[in-house]
Amino acid sequence: MNYCLDVHTHTVASGHAYSTMLEMVASAKEKGLGLLGITEHAPSMPGTTNKIYFENLKVVSRQMGELKLLLGVELNILDYQGNIDLDDYLLDRLDVAIASLHGPCIAPGSIEENTAAVIGAMKNKRVNIIGHPDDGAYPLDYEQVVKVAKETNTILEVNNNSLSPNTFRQNTRENATTMLKLCKQYEVPVIVGSDAHIATDVGLHQNAQEVFDACDFPEHLILNRSVDVFLEALKKKTLL
Ligand SMILES: [Zn+2]
Ligand SMILES: [Zn+2]
Repeated sequence: MNYCLDVHTHTVASGHAYSTMLEMVASAKEKGLGLLGITEHAPSMPGTTNKIYFENLKVVSRQMGELKLLLGVELNILDYQGNIDLDDYLLDRLDVAIASLHGPCIAPGSIEENTAAVIGAMKNKRVNIIGHPDDGAYPLDYEQVVKVAKETNTILEVNNNSLSPNTFRQNTRENATTMLKLCKQYEVPVIVGSDAHIATDVGLHQNAQEVFDACDFPEHLILNRSVDVFLEALKKKTLL
């Protein structure tokens, strides 16, 4: 399968990433992507950027030659109700919003609490994607997560970075496999995100591809295969 897009990446603005926006764009073009999403960590992540950064993204062109650029955010899920850390006014001005559980922002709870946190975020019409739901530090009831993803048209991520051998996350391969089997059963689409924190990692998907191959995951449920299909999937959420 040809991977045409990557919508989960970070630049120096996130505080612990190492490339600029234009370096990320250059890398995406070099790799032949049709669409790049840059999703900086939202303000509750220590060391990241501030609200004014997100507000001012209007100054950046969303078309960089052949490459379509989406500028968004990786929100922090803050509690077991699924509240997130950027207000609706700003979210309405961004192109894409990923919501994730991160150690510095929420303590791992019970499986019921973690699942409620993710479901709460999915019920927010401004949240398009759940980032790295494979993280074993936050055990989830994947059957519930996949069912609510289908009901709310929220996209579940297969995080390529989580699946790399040097990840700090636990049980990612097992968790991603469990989730993918359910996505296959319930016909729920997924997206591969590189979660690149340096330009050279933009568009990487090999670890995710290995897991897809291992569970014979159908290509028509992988949104990276077409820019148009992905943009359609994004719109479904906002219409809810
Ligand atoms: Zn994250
Ligand atoms: Zn990230």
